[in-house]
Amino acid sequence: MNEKNENLPDPQKIEKEIEEFLNKRFGGTVKIISPSILPKNAAIKGTDSPSEKSEFINFDIKPTELVSYLDQYIIRQYRAKSVLSTKICTHFNRIKHLEENTGIQAGITGSIKSNILMLGPTGVGKTYLIKLIAKKIGVPFVKADATKFSETGYVGGDVEDIIRDLVKEANDDIELAQYGIVYIDEIDKIAASQNFRGADVSRTGVQRALLKPMEETDIDLKVPHDPISMIQELENYHKTGKRSKRRINTANILFIVSGAFGDLAQIVSKRISKQSIGFGSTISTAKDESDILKHLKAEDLVEFGFESEFIGRLPVRCVLEKLSENDLYDILRMPNNPVILGKRLDFKAYGIDIVFTDDSLKLLAARAFHENTGARGLVSAVEDVLISFEEHLPSSDIKRLTVTQKLVENPAEYLEKILCAHEKTDSSEYSVSCRTSYYQKNKNHGTKADWSKFYENDYNWDEIHRLATENEKQYIAEYVSKNWKNLSIRHGLTLSQYRCTLVAEYFCTHVTELGNAIQQIKSYYESIKKIEVDFYKNYDLNIVLEEDAVDFLIEKLIHNQISSMEISAKIYNDFYNGLNLIRDKSAKNRFFLSRKSLLEPENFLNDLIKKEISS
Ligand code: ADP
Repeated sequence: MNEKNENLPDPQKIEKEIEEFLNKRFGGTVKIISPSILPKNAAIKGTDSPSEKSEFINFDIKPTELVSYLDQYIIRQYRAKSVLSTKICTHFNRIKHLEENTGIQAGITGSIKSNILMLGPTGVGKTYLIKLIAKKIGVPFVKADATKFSETGYVGGDVEDIIRDLVKEANDDIELAQYGIVYIDEIDKIAASQNFRGADVSRTGVQRALLKPMEETDIDLKVPHDPISMIQELENYHKTGKRSKRRINTANILFIVSGAFGDLAQIVSKRISKQSIGFGSTISTAKDESDILKHLKAEDLVEFGFESEFIGRLPVRCVLEKLSENDLYDILRMPNNPVILGKRLDFKAYGIDIVFTDDSLKLLAARAFHENTGARGLVSAVEDVLISFEEHLPSSDIKRLTVTQKLVENPAEYLEKILCAHEKTDSSEYSVSCRTSYYQKNKNHGTKADWSKFYENDYNWDEIHRLATENEKQYIAEYVSKNWKNLSIRHGLTLSQYRCTLVAEYFCTHVTELGNAIQQIKSYYESIKKIEVDFYKNYDLNIVLEEDAVDFLIEKLIHNQISSMEISAKIYNDFYNGLNLIRDKSAKNRFFLSRKSLLEPENFLNDLIKKEISS
């Protein structure tokens, strides 16, 4: 046995260690029972065994595709979208290229990984961007805060824990985890700053602990004295009969770090004004910090408190901009915005359809902007306004809610009104108490409650909801139509003008992301196209459903008015005999069915008979 193998613990030794641990914890009564006959030919296996080569990397995305995908979710941050898309795509394509062409994972000796440093204030999309990219590429992603490491001082072990988390995130698939993305936020907090001299040792310690994983190192997945990892190792042994040394190599793991870097802009502008008076004056007129940070150099980061080796491992940098009030409004208007989609889903869970009017979104954006936490403020702005509706509407019979400007301005009053209005049809406890409270208020003014006045200012709730939903559908249809080319290519479905409205129809009646809505329309399209094929196979009749007929049927499917089986049966009933006759008499065997022919099959067949047989 070589030295390396000797380091691997014996399964019995692991069992014993676990037993000791459990006994310490629960008293001396715990005994680990394991199969007495251990698998034969127990072999030691490392991750570098050729049989374990990855099956991953079916990755085939180009940078511009990734940018256009991100455009669906991320407002502004154009530079960050293009830098991140390009460097991350190249990182994975490069791995793919090396594996496919040379079968090895390591590239050129000394080549530097494209680890990324992102700079920008809170809530501007740093995490969101990376999450979206990781999801699109299909690699595991973990996020950690750099402050977590500094708290415990010099903690090489903790830094390695992020890599172990990555393996957990990859469902214990080490190969996949080796292509993961590690995202560390608040990295500016581990800079040795002059203001925090006391903490400097631990801060630079964390930077140093990160150096190796950021470049390349092997990390043992078994944590000494951690019963869980020991149990996992034992289980693995029983499952495979092999004593595998579970370790992960970080060569291909991409590290992305980010932070707000409060005083960094000052450092940059100071350096620049020292270097060149002319250039310095351009900087002093720069609009905001993100403009200044665009001139960032490694030396500024060193001045900020980073070790140069650490900066050296972050060759790609991008600066994210602060978001304006209008940007926040644009975020709320994005079809895939998780805040609005999330709220729609919360209410849908109680069978309530909720729709936001444009002016309500403007007001919510303005409120969020004042919180000065970027787009993060949107969540609390929306929650604050809707929480009482979320509490009370599920117990009423209200199934539709329109979030209007008035509602946002005064949610409590609006809730009372809407519940009282439904009192006419609803005898729930809340409605009764609502009427009582109105009565009390009027009594205090010495007037008798005038119920007609009580309802006088009532809105036509249904009409408001109908209009808001129509506006929303129109907006979504326009959005899809504006992006039809990209979306058509991405989803493999030609998005004609009419089909854009179908997507909008589906999107507004179901709570789902826009991409899923298009996919659903595509699956309807395919189920209809399959009818043509089946018809030919079963009846030897070649029918072609024209585009307007297909769209007409998709619309029926969206509204659950008919199933594809029923469509198939109806086409057979309406057309088989007629078309069969025409084929026999005229030898014609290709029939185009339009929307009109589906609606008026008899007229269609009569005309065709006249044309093909009688003439
Ligand atoms: P941070 O920059 O602090 O990492 P996040 O990326 O976590 O901020 O943003 C919080 C949330 O705000 C995201 O989940 C997303 O819903 C929204 N958000 C932030 N920035 C943008 C943006 N530029 N475009 C669209 N949504 C955004």
